[in-house]
Amino acid sequence: MKNTAQKPRGPLTHRILIGFFTIILSLLAYWLLEFVMNDIDSLPGPQLQELEAGILDKSLLERERSANQELAQIEQRRQDVVARQASLEASTNSSRETMNQLLEIQRLELQKGAATNEGEAKALTDSKRLFLSNQAKYQDLNDELENLREQARAIQDKNSGVRVQLEDQRAAANRQYVGLRKQHERKKASLKLLVLIPLLLIAFYFFRVKRGSLLAPIIYATGAALLLKLFEVLHEYFPSRYFKYILIAIAMALVVQVLLYLLRMVVSPKKEFLLKQFREAYEKFVCPVCEYPIRRGPLRYAFWTKRTIRKLILPEPSGQATHDDPYTCPACGAMLYEKCPVCGGVRHSLLGYCEKCGASKEVVVPA
Ligand SMILES: [Zn+2]
Ligand SMILES: [Zn+2]
Repeated sequence: MKNTAQKPRGPLTHRILIGFFTIILSLLAYWLLEFVMNDIDSLPGPQLQELEAGILDKSLLERERSANQELAQIEQRRQDVVARQASLEASTNSSRETMNQLLEIQRLELQKGAATNEGEAKALTDSKRLFLSNQAKYQDLNDELENLREQARAIQDKNSGVRVQLEDQRAAANRQYVGLRKQHERKKASLKLLVLIPLLLIAFYFFRVKRGSLLAPIIYATGAALLLKLFEVLHEYFPSRYFKYILIAIAMALVVQVLLYLLRMVVSPKKEFLLKQFREAYEKFVCPVCEYPIRRGPLRYAFWTKRTIRKLILPEPSGQATHDDPYTCPACGAMLYEKCPVCGGVRHSLLGYCEKCGASKEVVVPA
């Protein structure tokens, strides 16, 4: 039985480089997938304008267009009138102020008993006239505004039927557009899955068959990129209320896997794992089964535990090969050193190979 746990791993810098290029590879794979997905996204979908062109009545559209034009002209005129009113208001205000000032001057002069100035009287009459004419003009503009409003209302009334019909037709076009849009989205989603799922299956196949081989980093890199992209696609096209169930189900499956693995390890530990434990126990001169110190050879009278073994000062070898006898743990009865059936020397009972002749044996785990 060959010990597969001890694979050559290479120097640290080498392993770091492998990790680095694995990450680069997964980034590139992700990037490639991103390009493919973008190309699928750019497939031409339904166009609302084209649909409307097919559905909307041409003569109704023409009537709507001319009505909108007329309304726009009326609006333009209305804005002109409003602007003229504003400037008239400014002029009226200033003439009112002039009038008030002149009246004030007249009043003061009358109090002093002086005669009224000819020029002042004329100025007063002028500003009065201007004020009144401004008022009249302002009123005219108000009438014009009312007239324009009337015209706009008339146009809208005349075309209300057209508007209602067009609204119905636009709604129909929009419904059709929404339906086609949904169909298009479904098409894109299935195309993306059609790209991703076969690739994932291939990656999964290689993962099952080749994960122990040299190809492992490549498989992990591309697999991770594929999985990430698949998640993104699912997230994009499945409503998030379903997506969270998918996520939670996957997370639970993973956790259950880990739990089962741990439980299995407790009930029947993997052979590799056990052999590793045995190796470490022998290294520390304690029984692999019960951790009682293996007191043989020069250590016959020493005292140590698994924790203090490093500080233990080994006694000078006495010269006799006293430790080359079979040995059974006095605490639990597990056979720890036994006679090799191939070379007749004494070997570890719970390790795979004889240290004398290299003969291998199937380690039987003590009950
Ligand atoms: Zn023991
Ligand atoms: Zn041997």
